[in-house]
Amino acid sequence: MTEDVHAERRERATARLRETGAAGLVCFPSRNLQYLTGFAEEPGERHLLLVVPADDPPADGATATEPTLLVPALYETQVREETTVGAVRTWADGDDPTAAVRDLLGDLGLREGRLLVDDTMWATFAQDLRDAAPDAEWGLASEALADLRVRKDEAELDAMRAAAAAADETVRDLRDLGADAVGMTERDLADRIADRLAVHGGEGTAFETIVGAGPNGAKPHHGSGDREIRAGEPVVLDFGTRVDGYPSDQTRTLVFDGEPPAEYERVHEAVREAQAAAVEAVEPGVPAEAVDRAAREVIEAAGYGDAFVHRTGHGVGLDVHEEPYVVAGNDRALEPGMVVSVEPGIYLDGRFGCRIEDLVVVTENGCERLNDTDRGWR
Ligand code: ZN
Ligand code: ZN
Repeated sequence: MTEDVHAERRERATARLRETGAAGLVCFPSRNLQYLTGFAEEPGERHLLLVVPADDPPADGATATEPTLLVPALYETQVREETTVGAVRTWADGDDPTAAVRDLLGDLGLREGRLLVDDTMWATFAQDLRDAAPDAEWGLASEALADLRVRKDEAELDAMRAAAAAADETVRDLRDLGADAVGMTERDLADRIADRLAVHGGEGTAFETIVGAGPNGAKPHHGSGDREIRAGEPVVLDFGTRVDGYPSDQTRTLVFDGEPPAEYERVHEAVREAQAAAVEAVEPGVPAEAVDRAAREVIEAAGYGDAFVHRTGHGVGLDVHEEPYVVAGNDRALEPGMVVSVEPGIYLDGRFGCRIEDLVVVTENGCERLNDTDRGWR
C-alpha cells in the first residue's frame, strides 16, 4: 500500500470529524491507527497515541494543527520510517506521559469540544485523556471512521483477494488429505492449516482457527482441541489469514472419509442453498437484513430454523468483524466496496454442525465472491 493512501485517509478523517461536529480524534494502537497511518502495533502499557485535530484554521490558542503521533521514545525511529505522519512527539521512560498528553491536547486546541476516542482504547488511557481535558465531551472514533472504513478501496480489495486466495489454496490442501485426516486431532489439523496458509503467502492466522469435529462442530465458535477426527464425521473448518494487514475468513464443512450420518446430507444441502440464496441477494441498495432473510428462509423451509443460531454475516476489513452486520434489524443499504461474509449454518446439539462461508465484495451491480473453492462436503 502506498504511503499516500494513509495521508489521504487522514485528510478524509479530518473532513469527517468536521462533518460530525467533533473537535478531534485520539487513537491508540488499534485497527483505526493502522488504517490512518499504516502503523500496526499491539496495545501496550506505554502511551502511544495519534491525535487528529478537526480544525483548519486551528482552534483559538492552538499552536499546532497537524495530526500528531505521541510515542514512547523507543518507537521514534520505527514510526518515522513506517508512517508519513510528519509531527512526531516522544516521551522517554522516566518522564510523565500524562504531562505529554496534556501538552499535546493543549497545543492542538483540544482541551475542550467533542473528542472521539478509539472504541477499543484501554480505560487507563481514556481516563488519562479525561484528566488532561476535563471540559471535553467524549464520543467514539467509529462515529467518524466506520463510514470511511466500510467501503474498501482497490488496494484494500487486492489485499483481501490475496488473503482469500491463500485460504482457498489451503482448503484444497485439506480436501486432498482425505482419509489421512482421520486420526489427527483437531489441534493437529489447526497447526496444519497455519502451515499451509503461510506456504500460500498468508501472514499468520487472522483469528483462532476453528476445527470442529462431530459434536464440537455444533458449537459455532469452538476453537480446536484434542478430539481425534473420525471417519464419517463432519468437520467445520473456519479459518483466515492476512495479507498486507487484511484478513480472509471462510468456512467449509468436510467429511474426510467414510459416510456421514444420513441426515447430514440434507443439512449440508440446506446450508449450501441458503448460502447461494444469500449471495444472490447481495447488491447495492439492498438492506443488510434482506441478505440475512434470504438465507434464513431457505433454512426455515428445510425445517432447521431453530438450529441457525447466529446472524448470516459480518463486514470484514482490518477488523475481521466490523460493519455492516448482516443481521435482522440492520436496514443499512449495501454499497459498492463493502465486503461482507455470508455464512449460514445449522447446528445440531451433541451431533454435528455445518457452516459454509465466503466473503463477497459488493460491486456496482451485484457482488464478487472472494472465495471460489468447491462447497461440497467430500
Ligand atoms: Zn469464519
Ligand atoms: Zn465470518
